[in-house]
Amino acid sequence: MGSVKDYFSSLGAGIASLLKGMQVTGKEFITPKITEQYPENRETVKVPERFRAILELKYDSEGRHKCIACGICERNCPNGTIQLTTKMVDTPDGKKKRKLDKYQYDLGSCTFCQLCVTSCPQDALQFSNDFEQAVFTRDKLVKKLNYLPEKEEPAPSPEELARIQAEREAKIAAAKAAAAAKKAEAEAAKAIEVKEEKTETPETSPNK
Ligand code: SF4
Ligand code: SF4
Repeated sequence: MGSVKDYFSSLGAGIASLLKGMQVTGKEFITPKITEQYPENRETVKVPERFRAILELKYDSEGRHKCIACGICERNCPNGTIQLTTKMVDTPDGKKKRKLDKYQYDLGSCTFCQLCVTSCPQDALQFSNDFEQAVFTRDKLVKKLNYLPEKEEPAPSPEELARIQAEREAKIAAAKAAAAAKKAEAEAAKAIEVKEEKTETPETSPNK
């Protein structure tokens, strides 16, 4: 009699367990799917904006970036991922200016710490969320970030040129005035020295 009771008891427990399992399965059956079927969903997949996939220079609508080749990002990168090459160019006011020649970035060694982005004084860098960066060889992970042709600096207007010329002439005049004042000061000091020597000489003369 006891074994019949045990039989029905375990049968009931089995059916309850089965129903519970079916309840879980049924619930998951109607729950919206969250698994991404990549690459089938390549066209529709949504990557979060803040996902850091690859570093890039920010370009404006005219194809200009804001990098001034200061090298702060290069020095702050803990992995030596960034290598800058710079060049010197002449500016309209006759000065020399350092400009970016090549911004090299090795995606293969980047740890996406974002120190380069946060330390840039020009807000010239950002991370793109374009995650499809797989390549067959490591050398293809080394990118040139200033990939667009260098834009010419806008030519200065006549007013700007006149202002630069006026500033240059004012600087030259100020330098000449400073030099003349220094020269006059030196001559005055020398004259005083000579005068003092002349007044001292008669007292020390053996003919007196
Ligand atoms: S990206 Fe920014 S920090 Fe790096 S060299 Fe250019 S201006 Fe300097
Ligand atoms: S994110 Fe970090 S590791 Fe990558 S280039 Fe910037 S500073 Fe270097």
